[in-house]
Amino acid sequence: MALDTTETGENLCEFHAVEAHPSRPQRKAIPAGQLLINGKWINAEAGETMDVMDPTTEASITHVQKGSAADTQKAIDAAYTAFEDGPWGRMRHEDRAKILFRMADLMDERAEDFAIREAMDMGMPYTDFRTIIMPHCSGLFRFFAGQAMAHMDGSYRTSYEDNIRILTRREPLGVVGAITPWNFPLALTASKIAPGLAAGNCVIHKPASDTPLTALALAQVALDAGVPEGVYNLITGPGGAVGDALVRSKKVDKIAFTGSTSVGMGLIRNGADTIKHQTMELGGKSPNIIFADANMEAALQAAFWGIFWNKGEVCVAGSRILVEQSIYDEFVEKFSAMAKAAVLGDPLDPKTQLGPIATRAEYDKILKYIESGKQDAKLMAGGGAPKIGGKGLFIEATVFATNSNDIKISREEIFGPVVPVIPFKDEDEAIRLANDTDYGLASGIQTSNLGKALRLADRIKAGTVWLNTWHKYHPNAPFGGYKASGYGREQGAEALENYTQYKTVWANLG
Ligand code: NAD
Repeated sequence: MALDTTETGENLCEFHAVEAHPSRPQRKAIPAGQLLINGKWINAEAGETMDVMDPTTEASITHVQKGSAADTQKAIDAAYTAFEDGPWGRMRHEDRAKILFRMADLMDERAEDFAIREAMDMGMPYTDFRTIIMPHCSGLFRFFAGQAMAHMDGSYRTSYEDNIRILTRREPLGVVGAITPWNFPLALTASKIAPGLAAGNCVIHKPASDTPLTALALAQVALDAGVPEGVYNLITGPGGAVGDALVRSKKVDKIAFTGSTSVGMGLIRNGADTIKHQTMELGGKSPNIIFADANMEAALQAAFWGIFWNKGEVCVAGSRILVEQSIYDEFVEKFSAMAKAAVLGDPLDPKTQLGPIATRAEYDKILKYIESGKQDAKLMAGGGAPKIGGKGLFIEATVFATNSNDIKISREEIFGPVVPVIPFKDEDEAIRLANDTDYGLASGIQTSNLGKALRLADRIKAGTVWLNTWHKYHPNAPFGGYKASGYGREQGAEALENYTQYKTVWANLG
């Protein structure tokens, strides 16, 4: 079955609005990147740089600075001074909000540049970025600008003394280190920087070494929007040096981390000595439960985009598909046909559904999982790694049929376009399999019975449950994990809890 998301009207995930961008955007020269410290672009002290690779052409795009612990210390000092002595944390909420609204407008004005950078850097389809990611990212800045204005202090009386007033103030934490992964570089940065700045903190962003290009563009937006010097700093460089220096510094009050569970566990340990506030957005192995009473076409769409969007390099990918036994064979047959028809290609081509895998290391890792799947399960579609025009880190949309939730491909986060499809007998077994994982990031239930869907949503241990859809996001919807998928919430008014602290002032009116 060919997957035509523009004509069926069945595309519940609203992906790939091909008609929105009929002309094909082009690769472009990206200037070399520098570090942003205290409002100035500078080179790393040691003079070292890192190459940035395009996974489609396998050629170098540009280079960025290889920041060190010493460079990071400079950024920490700048942010600390800006917080202690500068205007940002003390500014009227409305004035801070104006700057964040300006950032959002500049992001939208420069959307084309952001989209080309993300396509070249991490292989994200240009069209998906322009139609889904970019509005979400600028929307996050607008949403938190609004929250900054609603950032109210409280006032209470005691029940026992009329002359006592209790005043609660919500204050910023201080210096926030934002450490982000390579899979949604701009979105995961915006979801930390927007609430961090809105609450009055000063930030230091450390992007993933493989995908720093939109981070550079966002830091320039902050400068152009009038964020005061020292309030927004950017250090590119290895996690073990730059990220670690942020995590261990006494002057950094909070780490907002998105990445793998194993690295996150290390950060929690390393931050203990400085009583660091931390939020952890970690890995996932999210179950998509498909009942026999679901609309088959809609369920196929939700399953297809659930796992194959952004080539499966998505923390909330529907990476375990659980299907009711009575429709299992029909579903696997149709779903495998969709996977075989998936369009791989240059992410700048509007027709492309799956771009290349972002990095060579991930590409090699995914191919090993495919080999493991071939040993343990039945390969139904994909499994290959074609070159396009002789180049590129492409992996086909790959489907395995298996009865087991215990084999490697059913348990571990593959983080690529590979999915096991597992049958279940009844509701109880579906929920048992869904929760039989260390992770708890996302989940989904596809059924025409809304009562059943809501009842079962209560029983799933995951931070997000999508009913009859997948991959829905909004700035006002809290997002985060249960269990090994982490703690703390990003997005939504709830996120500000993680970027602020309360002060209680007791006043005796005499
Ligand atoms: P990663 O954990 O390897 O790296 C994440 C970031 O941490 C990078 O910037 C890296 O340089 C830095 N880092 C590495 N070692 C460090 C150290 N010792 N100290 C401080 N920082 C360090 O993750 P990745 O491979 O970039 O991203 C993929 C992972 O991210 C997957 O597990 C995926 O599920 C997860 N992820 C989670 C979410 C979510 O919202 N829950 C979203 C996207 C990705």
